[in-house]
Amino acid sequence: MRARTTSEPGGAAGPPGSGHPPRGRVTLVGGGPGAVDLLTLRAWRALRSADVVVADRLGAVGVLDDLPATTDVVHVGKTSGHHPVPQDEINRIIVARALAGAHVVRLKGGDPFLFGRGGEEVLACREAGIEVDVVPGVTSAVGVPELAGIPVTHRGTARGVHITSGHGGLDTAAIATVRENTTTLVVLMGVSSLSTIVQQALRAGTDPATPVAIVENGSTPAQRVTRTRLDEAGDVATREGVAAPAVIVIGGVAADGLLGGARDGRLAGAGV
Ligand code: SAH
Repeated sequence: MRARTTSEPGGAAGPPGSGHPPRGRVTLVGGGPGAVDLLTLRAWRALRSADVVVADRLGAVGVLDDLPATTDVVHVGKTSGHHPVPQDEINRIIVARALAGAHVVRLKGGDPFLFGRGGEEVLACREAGIEVDVVPGVTSAVGVPELAGIPVTHRGTARGVHITSGHGGLDTAAIATVRENTTTLVVLMGVSSLSTIVQQALRAGTDPATPVAIVENGSTPAQRVTRTRLDEAGDVATREGVAAPAVIVIGGVAADGLLGGARDGRLAGAGV
């Protein structure tokens, strides 16, 4: 990895000159689920032109090695032994750097507006009078199942998809979806609540044989797919040591072999 400037998250912004520095701007960039080649061209261009990149733990962090050595990278995601930087502090860093004249890229995992708190960052910029753009990213909610050969909708199997946070279990709308069985339920941030999710779904009358797929570390070399059924999902996940980050797919589309050629959880010839 090339030498580069890095800053502590709390570091001073340091206006580039005396007097009134030119006002910078912010670009929120969706980095996709992890593989660098799932970044969009627009994301890549924004990253190359950034003075400062404020990066998360998840997503296409490998791209940081390919940025110019002059790009200042600020890590705000949770790393081992370090807590993540709180959201209001992230907002403060982004705004301070932009006010000091920098083009700030806020690199986020997946898509910025799906459980990414991107909306809060946009509001913080607007409140500070800073120009802000958003670059959509491949969301893990669709892209990660897809890389495992699972289409979140499929003619004759699922005519819709409901994406929810599994943090603390399912809400009533998600429970109704899973019981209905014509709409796929995609659960993010659900690994630690999986047994609660299973209990909620079963108690609501969901078919215990409903297929479940859990895709960990999608798009990375550590991608792993665990297939099971609803009433066994908790035990299987524990036995297999399933861990975050993972996308949980519940519904007919999660059935093994739906698209025929699935091998090791990947589509034959998918090239990943
Ligand atoms: N904005 C992101 C989601 C942020 S919430 C997006 O659009 O993808 C974080 C959750 O996303 C994780 O807990 C996990 O459920 C999911 N996730 C993100 N990257 C993932 C990956 N590479 N593999 C599996 N799940 C992932």
